Amino acid sequence: MSGYLALKVLILDDEPFMRMLLSEMLSNLGLTQITAYENGTEALAYINSPDNAVDLILLDINMPGMDGIEFVRHLANCSYHGSLILISGEDERMLQTAEKLVKTHNINILGHLQKPVSSKELSGLLKKWLPSWLNESSPQTRKIYSAEEIQIAISNKEFVNYYQPQINVKTGKVVGVEALARWQHPQDGTVFPDQFIQIAEANGLIDDLTYLVIDTAFSQTSIWQNYSLDLRVSVNISMANLASLNFVDYLAKAVNVAGIMSSDIVLEVTETQLMKHLSNSLEVLGRLRLKRFGLSIDDFGTGYSSFALLRAIPFNELKVDRGFVHGVASNDTLRAIYNASLSVAQQLDMQVVAEGVEDWDDWNFLRNSTCNVAQGYFIAKPMPADKIHDWIHDWEANIENFMHSSS
Ligand code: C2E
Ligand code: CA
Ligand code: CA
Repeated sequence: MSGYLALKVLILDDEPFMRMLLSEMLSNLGLTQITAYENGTEALAYINSPDNAVDLILLDINMPGMDGIEFVRHLANCSYHGSLILISGEDERMLQTAEKLVKTHNINILGHLQKPVSSKELSGLLKKWLPSWLNESSPQTRKIYSAEEIQIAISNKEFVNYYQPQINVKTGKVVGVEALARWQHPQDGTVFPDQFIQIAEANGLIDDLTYLVIDTAFSQTSIWQNYSLDLRVSVNISMANLASLNFVDYLAKAVNVAGIMSSDIVLEVTETQLMKHLSNSLEVLGRLRLKRFGLSIDDFGTGYSSFALLRAIPFNELKVDRGFVHGVASNDTLRAIYNASLSVAQQLDMQVVAEGVEDWDDWNFLRNSTCNVAQGYFIAKPMPADKIHDWIHDWEANIENFMHSSS
């Protein structure tokens, strides 16, 4: 692997012994281009020099002077495109917090290592990273699309919906699917929402994109009903969609055209941006609920004012964000937030959907809670519409086994 050897790694740690130890571990793993610094200022000067494109930084969080968190902020300001591993003697929770902070700066973080660092854990993180480094579609080399490209793609109807199954936690039966937009790019293949939703929102294209997703999802709902598949279909709505009072009429008309009922549809709303047109949004959501559309508060626990929204809008479903679901069985903080979310939902008579169920531990934990519906890779990944029928068939054939096994 020649590309492997060419990777440049920078170590930033104030302890000389750690710098030596980490260099040794890295070179044993085949990485030879290693630079080490004891303070953030010098490391930044090195990184900022155009000749020194660094691919990976091993960063100690606790340092005198500029600490690791401050260093990360400077890194973000100089548009660092490489990856990062955090190292610290702090406890797991502190490291997780630091990892989250790094993510808010859009820096690719491979993970964290607790001191004393074991070379096995380090090589584990590097293995995760190398395939993506060698693969062109890795985040570092990800293509950024222009608003014009997205606009053209919308008019050419290059967007399709994938659907991810949701099951009833008590019976295992499939109760619905969530529609997730995918761009079938003629050259680049399947492009995921994180590469087009925000750009569409920022450039006034989100209404057209949402209408396309809705039209497709509603006619698909009707097709499934013709096959006697009674699925509730959830679609993601952007806050920006709610600024327009026409949105209600569009939806009301679209259910009529498709020949379905508004109660077959759930609109998932995330509070990601502070609402600019608050009164319009509240009116639109209120009227949609009056028209019997399901309303779900998505990514619960991550928004700016999830609670304020709950007070204002009669949501009938709460989706616990996957950040509080995967790993909930073994993490006290996640469990506290998960349980609090369930308790809010119960008191407000809302159905709870847990998303991001990834393994047996998550699933077993959910089953012993009052959660109603589960969604996640453990059950199924999002799939094209034409795969849903067969998937449900196979799933239902195995439900008994699934519900009675515990690992
Ligand atoms: P979301 O609404 O939170 O959707 C769930 C995302 O989690 C999906 O990513 C899904 O593929 C992923 N996921 C499902 N199960 C698991 C799991 O077990 N583990 C993990 N780690 N992830 C899981 P996707 O499809 O990439 O969508 C990302 C986000 O883009 C969505 O997050 C949603 O906010 C947004 N989005 C997708 N389609 C649309 C759309 O048509 N309109 C709008 N406005 N937003 C959309
Ligand atoms: Ca969603
Ligand atoms: Ca979510």
